[in-house]
Amino acid sequence: MIHEKMLIGGKWVESKKGDVIEVINPATEEIFADVPLADKSDVEDAVNAADSAFLSWSRLSPFERGKYLRKASELVLKRSKDIARVLTMEQGKPLAEAEGEVIKSANILRYYAEEGERIYGRIIANEEPDFESMVIYQPIGVAAAISPWNYPVELLAWKVGAALAAGCTLVAKLPSETPLSPLAFIKCLVDVGLPEGVLNAVTGPGSVIGSVLISSPIVKKIAFTGSTEVGREVLKGSADTLKKVSLELGGSLPMIVCKDCNLDAAVSGAVRRSFRNMGQICIAINRIYVEREIYEEFIERFAQATKKLVIGNGLTDKCDLGPMCTLAGVKKTITHIQDAIEKGAKIVCGGKRPEGSKFEKGYFFEPTILRDVNHSMLVMQEETFGPLVGVMPFDTLDEAVELANDTRYGLAAIVFTQDISTARRLCRDIEAGNVAVNNVDAGVINAPYGGWKDSGFGFEHGPEGLYEYLHIKHIRIRYL
Ligand code: NAD
Repeated sequence: MIHEKMLIGGKWVESKKGDVIEVINPATEEIFADVPLADKSDVEDAVNAADSAFLSWSRLSPFERGKYLRKASELVLKRSKDIARVLTMEQGKPLAEAEGEVIKSANILRYYAEEGERIYGRIIANEEPDFESMVIYQPIGVAAAISPWNYPVELLAWKVGAALAAGCTLVAKLPSETPLSPLAFIKCLVDVGLPEGVLNAVTGPGSVIGSVLISSPIVKKIAFTGSTEVGREVLKGSADTLKKVSLELGGSLPMIVCKDCNLDAAVSGAVRRSFRNMGQICIAINRIYVEREIYEEFIERFAQATKKLVIGNGLTDKCDLGPMCTLAGVKKTITHIQDAIEKGAKIVCGGKRPEGSKFEKGYFFEPTILRDVNHSMLVMQEETFGPLVGVMPFDTLDEAVELANDTRYGLAAIVFTQDISTARRLCRDIEAGNVAVNNVDAGVINAPYGGWKDSGFGFEHGPEGLYEYLHIKHIRIRYL
């Protein structure tokens, strides 16, 4: 049994009450680890530690802060295989995917080490002679990061990289389902000598830890990634202390496939982005709209390619897909399938647990494609966050845009077309913070990533992600 501790004020500690949270391997349903279950007072300690560390950290030059991030990035790369192993054990994704996530997280630290050196101000001419305005950026103070279990290392790395590079100190609330891999990532920062209190990590129930962080007058910024429902609570709770909040929330990603597209690329993109990480990605494809002339061919080829995906235990098997991370996720996927079937949808492939003795335990589920879907169905309106996608035909671009925009979400969209005017028009008219054209990954570390509508606001990635942790100050000078 693995046991890990929390990080408060540079020390690895238990919760004061000694309670723990158990960690389950979703491929075997075995409890294989536990971590402390923090209560209010543990979280207050973490906030106070971050507060004590703030002044000296914020006054280091960005070049000095960058040195820690660069060293930590190298150490994460060195330990990537070990971190990936524990990530697969607690989250379920295949080992190669887990290692990819850890490597990306190392790159994020390096990127923000560099971006931190590029926090420039501005000099602005004034109308009156001998006056000048100066705009400078200063770290906002103690920040808190709350993130989910689907990419537990990467989503934390976005926040750690940007906050620390900006000169903020951070309290990270780690996901209860997958606390071990983020703790292993954080250990790399500690082991390169990050000053005490600059980064703190607590584990425990979201409602308890969240409410301390959200209501604390010391915490000046909350970076939240998670569901729209909890995001809304975070925003409401932050009103009393008027915190800066960024909310990276749920999505329902539409893919529009036009008849002039490269169909091979569209099909392989659809398979990858619908089912990677068992669809447990905020920018997983939930809905596919295909121009009617190629609807049948697309469905046939999409199903053929999907059936070739190999499901297995990500730790021991060579596979494309592992189990889902939680039993609740499997149940939600089944609910969305049943709802669609009751309303007239048909299963093209999947729709059940895989057969065979090796799938008796574990939260496994077959990647599932539905056809004959419509917008009265949950699958076409709500985020399943599971390996499920609905495919429906369209006749005109206006109709495709209307369908794509017909949900409360606006995180990202995907378009496949070879016609530049069609691409340009769809990019303009789709209500989403990110649009990928002829590729299926709308997120890159040096470009801003954020949602519209119920997918939240604020940014991660890019300089915009860094500015989330900075105050703007205008200084007006008169030269006497
Ligand atoms: P969740 O909202 O249930 O939990 C997210 C985090 O918030 C967890 O650490 C949880 O412990 C914590 N939390 C729970 N209740 C809280 C409360 N009352 N106050 C403060 N914190 C609380 O989400 P989840 O099910 O863990 O994650 C899946 C969701 O995350 C999906 O909706 C997915 O789309 C979203 N997500 C969004 C992005 C993005 O960039 N937009 C990225 C990944 C995941």
